[in-house]
Amino acid sequence: MTEAFDAVDVIATKRDGGVLTDAQIDWMIDAYTRGAVAEEQMSALLMAVFLNGLTPSELNRWTAAMIASGETLDFSGLSRPTADKHSTGGVGDKITLTLTPLVACFGVAVPQLSGRGLGHTGGTLDKLEAIPGWQAVLTNQQMTSQLDSLGAVICQAGAGLAPADRKLYALRDVTATVACVPLIASSIMSKKIAEGTGVLVLDVKCGSGAFMADLAHARELAQTMVGIGTDHGVTTRALITDMSTPLGLTAGNGLEVAEAVEVLAGGGPADVVDLTLALAREMLDAAAERLEAGVVAGSAEATRRAEELRSADLAAALKDGRAMDIWRQMIAAQGGDPSAELPQSRHTDDVLAEDDGYLTSLDALKVGVAAWRLGAGRARKEDVVQGGAGVVMHAKPGEQVRRGQPLLTLHSDDTGRFARAREALDGAWTIGDAEPSPSSLIMERIVK
Ligand code: URA
Repeated sequence: MTEAFDAVDVIATKRDGGVLTDAQIDWMIDAYTRGAVAEEQMSALLMAVFLNGLTPSELNRWTAAMIASGETLDFSGLSRPTADKHSTGGVGDKITLTLTPLVACFGVAVPQLSGRGLGHTGGTLDKLEAIPGWQAVLTNQQMTSQLDSLGAVICQAGAGLAPADRKLYALRDVTATVACVPLIASSIMSKKIAEGTGVLVLDVKCGSGAFMADLAHARELAQTMVGIGTDHGVTTRALITDMSTPLGLTAGNGLEVAEAVEVLAGGGPADVVDLTLALAREMLDAAAERLEAGVVAGSAEATRRAEELRSADLAAALKDGRAMDIWRQMIAAQGGDPSAELPQSRHTDDVLAEDDGYLTSLDALKVGVAAWRLGAGRARKEDVVQGGAGVVMHAKPGEQVRRGQPLLTLHSDDTGRFARAREALDGAWTIGDAEPSPSSLIMERIVK
């Protein structure tokens, strides 16, 4: 096959700070995906992009080329509008589990195509696989039919969505080109847009346990992703949320499922409840905006539905069991037993507070690494995770603690893991005399 371009010319253009043409971008992504551009050539281009960036129009085209590398799902035949959420990943982030059934209560279908965890942030599928019998893999047909009947699906994203991203992500991992806003944004958004949702709400985490440690970078990533989504016809918004401390009181697969079920039963930690409600509100509001704009149906009926979505009493649906009903049906539809006992680790180890005072900080990254070392996460894709392993926190920053009380309880099937987990927790918290001023969980809201 005669190739339309020479990879060396494309690389040189970006190396010298030039702008790539649409045709160059389309060809480069396609030729790399089918193996006609060598790994070392794409490595050089990624580094040139890392150093010189992409213009907004290059970035849109780059993302479109990644989407075009594979299949795209089409939910336009569903009787309900669709809305999805994506989190950039954090410690104790079990929000997908609470949010999906909650939003589905209001007649909006939520297709949550998720992944497994690597490193210190847990993957949604790992959490749900702690439920006996639950199956992550669905065919497109099964997914669509569950979305139509129930409005809620959490399953494994198929290999056919944006296959260019899988190759590019693996290459970025070994070429020091992961931490690059246009490359992260195109990677996330190509998969989400290929998935075919009408509405996308992004939870961009900011703080030690997140990809983006500071607000300026989190804002840049959020704005970039909202721009790409909007330009591709997806109603997209983002919340930037605090990930300097873990979300909720648990980090670890089965432990997080149990906490999510508490929230669905009308209880649970305030931060998990608040973030679930805030993201659900954005999803319903964006779905309403889309209905009104006539993208789904521009009729009087659409206006009435939009009103209904905007005035939805989300907190009531957590309190009165409606979200729990959908959760139970969603788990059962995928072979899981929602009443089954969750896995318990064989051993626990309490970490005690060394002083009286206020817990002034509890570091998300260190807790995440500890949970990972206890067996909740994997270092390599093929590692097996422990369903019961992780960390239970007994206080949140701002709360008073007493010397000698358990601050954290470590859970693992293997006592040999406790020492390394404790090492990860070295310096993970501070206890002070003065009550810290409350920090806000939602740091910023980004709309285009
Ligand atoms: N998640 C992704 O899917 N891609 C990135 O580049 C970073 C996080």
